Amino acid sequence: MDQVREKTRGRGASTTARAAKADPAPVSVSPIDLRAQLRDDIIRCVLMPGQRLKFDELRTRYDAGVGSLREALMQLVADGLVIAESNRGFCVAPVSIADLEDITDLRVELESKALALSIQHGDDAWEASIVAALHMLIKLESDITKAPHNGRLWEERHSNFHDALVAACPSVWIMRFRRVLFDQSQRYRAVSMMQSQTPGRVHKHREMMDLVLARDVEGSVAAMAEHIRHTAANVRQWLSLHGQDMATTEFLAEPDSDS
Ligand SMILES: [Zn+2]
Repeated sequence: MDQVREKTRGRGASTTARAAKADPAPVSVSPIDLRAQLRDDIIRCVLMPGQRLKFDELRTRYDAGVGSLREALMQLVADGLVIAESNRGFCVAPVSIADLEDITDLRVELESKALALSIQHGDDAWEASIVAALHMLIKLESDITKAPHNGRLWEERHSNFHDALVAACPSVWIMRFRRVLFDQSQRYRAVSMMQSQTPGRVHKHREMMDLVLARDVEGSVAAMAEHIRHTAANVRQWLSLHGQDMATTEFLAEPDSDS
């Protein structure tokens, strides 16, 4: 997270992209992991919103062929994380306040629906998995002040907790689109450098768990909606101050024909 802050503070999209280009050493991934690796780097803002995705750089970074990269990028276009423009190649999808609000509204709808169905269908094992996921989150919170660079691990455990809450939802389509929106909101948190691992936040998750285990559908859905909207409001505030240069892509700023 600190690395992202370093890249974005007070800089334009082109500058941030140049910073990103200079950073990590190439890593080798198998074709099957390529999409996941790219997706992860976009969600964590290692690849910044609006950044041009040049094949030469991606080939070096991921040790992958152009065909594999193109296929992976097209899949990420379908998830709304990458945009493609004919004859211009690919860019990481930009971020904007309007987009954030759109994502937030739809997320509240889908998470609420998934949670209500999950409470309706969940069994004892489902309850136990929620308790275990929260336990993992709490364990990390006690360590996070000693190791604040553990933001990525926090995001994993935070994601696991939210996944556990809705895991008994039987609707495949709700869960599919919920995942897309969850990833998008995670990217917005990363771009705004929100410190989601801040100690003390975990009590909100415990309150949510207690309502879910009590099978209080109305209370659980209200708590989930408040949680999502509260997070989005913080991100929105950050974007209104710092995010103007992330609303466009480098298609406009840096024409290139290498793709
Ligand atoms: Zn949460």
